Amino acid sequence: MRFNEIDSRITLPSHHSKNVILGPDEFVLCPHCEGPHILTTMISGNTFGAVFWSDGWMDAPMMMEYPIIVACVHCGEVFDIEVVTRIEEKDFHQVGDMSPAYLREASEDQCIKYASTHEELNQLREWQIRIRAYQMGNHASRRSKKPRDWSTMSLSNARRLVQICGRGVVEQLIMAEVLRSIGEFDDAVEVLDELTPDDELTASMSRQIRAHLNKRSRQVFEPELPK
Ligand SMILES: [Zn+2]
Repeated sequence: MRFNEIDSRITLPSHHSKNVILGPDEFVLCPHCEGPHILTTMISGNTFGAVFWSDGWMDAPMMMEYPIIVACVHCGEVFDIEVVTRIEEKDFHQVGDMSPAYLREASEDQCIKYASTHEELNQLREWQIRIRAYQMGNHASRRSKKPRDWSTMSLSNARRLVQICGRGVVEQLIMAEVLRSIGEFDDAVEVLDELTPDDELTASMSRQIRAHLNKRSRQVFEPELPK
């Protein structure tokens, strides 16, 4: 069952084979310095052994995480993996003097800065970049179980996510989570009050987010999934 197709990592369990099948490597050039990079691809993975989080993030050992915004290993510039030049393997080995390197995902701040300075982004792409940055910001608090630190930049990213959030049930659940995490409890409750869950999963998520709101907790959590 897919929780949501609009973000690459907002996913709930599905039953596939238990093998990760890697696809062919892709060869991409940095749009700034033409530095060569390798992008590993996945044909199929699965959610076996995965841990799901209330912000839509999934820690899945049998699933490959695709980067969205990456930082060039050669020049340090940041770019969108969707807007790179992909080249053939045979051409790849003839590119200049630079050694090929595996693509490296940009940091939370780099992603937020990218989304803030690229006005040409459509709303879906902006959402994808900003939600990834938001989830990255939650990583430390996932591990430590302590509240996360909010930088001015992270906070402005969260507020922008609320502005551009779609109207679908899953998006609205994520919006309630974002509002809860920045302490806007009343607004989060209002979002849940107006929500009509469309299945047992979203109904259960809504109940669990509400329970955390009632405790005035801002912490990201591992929701229990309906059987
Ligand atoms: Zn570069």
